[in-house]
Amino acid sequence: MDHFLYRDGRLFAEDVAVAEIAASVGTPFYVYSTATLLRHFRLFDEALEGLDHLVCYAMKANSNQAVLQTLAQAGAGMDVVSGGEYLRAKAAGVPGDRIVFSGVGKTREEIRLALEGGIRQFNVESEPEMAVLDAVARDLGVVAPITIRVNPDVDAKTHAKIATGKSENKFGIPIARAREVYRLAAEMPGLRVIGIDVHIGSQLTELEPYRLAYQKVAELTEVLRADGHQITRLDLGGGLGIPYARSNEAPPLPTDYGKLVKETLGHLGCEIEIEPGRLIAGNAGLMVSEVIYVKSGEGRDFLILDGAMNDLIRPAMYDAYHDIISVLEPAPGVEPQPIDIVGPVCESGDTFAKQRLMPPLRAGDLVAFRSAGAYGAVMSSEYNSRPLVPEVLVKGDQFAVIRARPTFDEMIKRDTIPEWL
Ligand SMILES: *Cc1c(COP(=O)(O)O)cnc(C)c1O
Repeated sequence: MDHFLYRDGRLFAEDVAVAEIAASVGTPFYVYSTATLLRHFRLFDEALEGLDHLVCYAMKANSNQAVLQTLAQAGAGMDVVSGGEYLRAKAAGVPGDRIVFSGVGKTREEIRLALEGGIRQFNVESEPEMAVLDAVARDLGVVAPITIRVNPDVDAKTHAKIATGKSENKFGIPIARAREVYRLAAEMPGLRVIGIDVHIGSQLTELEPYRLAYQKVAELTEVLRADGHQITRLDLGGGLGIPYARSNEAPPLPTDYGKLVKETLGHLGCEIEIEPGRLIAGNAGLMVSEVIYVKSGEGRDFLILDGAMNDLIRPAMYDAYHDIISVLEPAPGVEPQPIDIVGPVCESGDTFAKQRLMPPLRAGDLVAFRSAGAYGAVMSSEYNSRPLVPEVLVKGDQFAVIRARPTFDEMIKRDTIPEWL
């Protein structure tokens, strides 16, 4: 559920008309709903009620400072995957002991930054990383709390580019080698082993892969405890999917996910962390774009928008589907027609949808891409020298620009000319 609904024939974001934002900010832009962000965070928080737990928002999904601050004020921790994200989380007021650091390629500098600024734990992904973390921690005279990310070799049944829990993926250590790697970690004076981490992929639409992975984590917990390790915290990753096509998808709900966590892991007495990103931010955002031209081609028509693959790359990168709706509600009885929806970038990949059924639209009309709040603005670029797409946050009847569109002058001045020119 979200807070983007038609009222009297016009699309609203909470209590603000989307067309009003477009008139003030210009298109394309992203708009996020505070109520939806908070609702999704609370769904997870409530789903784990009864367990000692922390929901660490995977901020790579949407790392705008205003979004982070909204969630941090509601009690969210953060899952970060870079030094930049770590600093963003701190700048949004998240204390170090609510930040977990994930990622396969943490550099020495990033590790140092997090150890100095305070960190809840590092989710270690390899033996070389473990050695570096140990060295940096000893150098600073501190002990780094760690979990080790295990790769449970389960098929998340999702798009290949976002599956992470199969043995062929670069993430984590093979679960079969876990005992050996935990033994090595326990011998390192700069590290304190506190738990296990697992994250099997993104946009999961079934619970079964989670069940398989969490059962393996439960078994591993017992084995590692018998080996003498203190396993007190389990980080279960994120990945729960959202319905991109509202008409025919119903991914599992956070409540059912919570039940599964309790069933598979509740008996172990561990503190539970989860790292949802997409499910918190995805349906809390729209990308709004204006129709520039309606072009008739041979056998097909094209809706050419002012938004493009540089603003929302998911269709080009993951073959992702987004519902695209008219900001003016189509009149009842209007026959939708198939049309290709494209951006102006000079690549055939700049196609949002082919032969999509849309109501008749004209130049100047606005459309909204649903479910664009996660992996949308964060993946945007200035390809084709198109200004970085702005972001807007709505709360009730208020809205504010939370990242402004740069001017062309600002964009040009970011480059510098060498002396010899
Ligand atoms: C990307 C990622 C997440 C979040 O995945 P979602 O599908 O957005 O929930 C969580 N944990 C880790 C380690 C990740 O890399």
